[in-house]
Amino acid sequence: MSKSIVAVIGRPNVGKSTFFNRLAGRRISIVEDTPGVTRDRIYAEVEWLNHTFSLIDTGGLEPSSSEIIPSQMRKQAQLAMEMAHVILFMVDGRAGITAQDQEIAELLRKNNRPVILVVNKVDSHQHSEYYYDFYELGLGDPIEISAEMAYGIGDLLDLVISHFPESTHSHEDQDQIKVSVIGKPNVGKSSLINKFLGEERVIVSDIAGTTRDAIDTPFSMDGQEYLLIDTAGLRKKSRINDDVEHYSVLRAIAAIERSDVCVLMIDGREGVTEQDKKVAGLSHENGKAMVILVNKWDLVEKDNKTVNQMTKDIRRELGFCQYAPILFVSVLTGQRIDRIIPAVQHVSNQHAMRIQTGVLNEVIAESTLMKQPPSDKGKRLKIFYGTQVSVKPPTFILFINDKELMHFSYQRYLENRIRENFGFEGTPVRFMLREKS
Ligand code: GDP
Ligand code: GDP
Repeated sequence: MSKSIVAVIGRPNVGKSTFFNRLAGRRISIVEDTPGVTRDRIYAEVEWLNHTFSLIDTGGLEPSSSEIIPSQMRKQAQLAMEMAHVILFMVDGRAGITAQDQEIAELLRKNNRPVILVVNKVDSHQHSEYYYDFYELGLGDPIEISAEMAYGIGDLLDLVISHFPESTHSHEDQDQIKVSVIGKPNVGKSSLINKFLGEERVIVSDIAGTTRDAIDTPFSMDGQEYLLIDTAGLRKKSRINDDVEHYSVLRAIAAIERSDVCVLMIDGREGVTEQDKKVAGLSHENGKAMVILVNKWDLVEKDNKTVNQMTKDIRRELGFCQYAPILFVSVLTGQRIDRIIPAVQHVSNQHAMRIQTGVLNEVIAESTLMKQPPSDKGKRLKIFYGTQVSVKPPTFILFINDKELMHFSYQRYLENRIRENFGFEGTPVRFMLREKS
């Protein structure tokens, strides 16, 4: 099921980052940290009751938030309105309403997204002295919190999740593969999508996105149904200037979370850039399958070593997603683009693959025989057994004697052995460790 997105906006100094850090602290971290991927504070997973959602700070990457200009704030608000299910509009309970607050409120009122007006810095159990003034913003009841003292956060989160759309589950077709095309501006995403949706493919129909302005486009090929995520923003080109890296990364988050497979497009002339690393990292951390396309291959000067060299570079730069198949393509000339959909289908199957507990344990037993598990102070790691608990991505629980004894390198070894035996091409796999005596 796709995760809901909550955006925090507001003028500088109202306490957005304080709030963000407080919630991000609750983040349940996913098994391993991804080396080489910087975690920006723009994005965190938050768990509350039975919900997990993504919290986005649209201002998070601005160089100096105190010098932020009004047009930037409008852009942030716009972005939040485009992608969030719920918007938290934060104001300062000690400063009262400012002209900037009023300006943002006006934008938000014109929109039909749920907005919660959050009055921060209410550090005592008394109303802010401006409490009643905040009603003037026309955004309903102000909710008072203190990000610093952690007052009112639970009630706020209860309110946030009450606005989430009812399960989007029922509308989702289990057999459909949800694909997003991600990559830097100008790398060729729209061109590729237009190729997919070109006349030779059957476009089933356009279904208007229910919770955001995005339009997902279903199409089918060779009897398989696909849903192309969030293509509206691509085809129309967004109102927001995508050249700002920050915004295009944020927009990618929304698409990635709703996908099964991310098709990452890299510009063959430039190789892997920082932004590519970031979006690849998001795909990996969200447990999505991935196919890497090196596009504009027609423009690359090459000899018989170029493919190898480029492959090496990508494997080095994107070390955490060794599993992703790489295709060298030219959307313009059509070179190898017929391989893309089969690759998507393949990694999607691998992403949903389930291994029987019996065979899995044969592989684990054999692996521990071939390479002894690590030991520390005379105590050796014992793996009693493993079982696959879920798919998309494939996730295994290993029952072991002592978590402290499981080294990253040994876990990587096991992962490699499992991949050698079962494949899992194109998908991350995860391990959870449980102690058992
Ligand atoms: P941002 O620019 O909106 O991200 O704001 P920051 O999170 O950087 O906070 C700006 C200032 O307000 C910092 O000095 C914070 O310590 C302070 N602040 C944030 N939350 C609270 C709060 O709940 N109470 C008080 N008294 N100060 C706060
Ligand atoms: P987007 O911003 O990622 O959606 O990129 P576009 O699809 O708009 O493509 C940007 C530009 O690159 C356009 O002028 C395309 O025609 C061009 N382009 C896309 N793919 C290729 C390719 O494989 N080779 C060459 N030479 N140009 C390409």
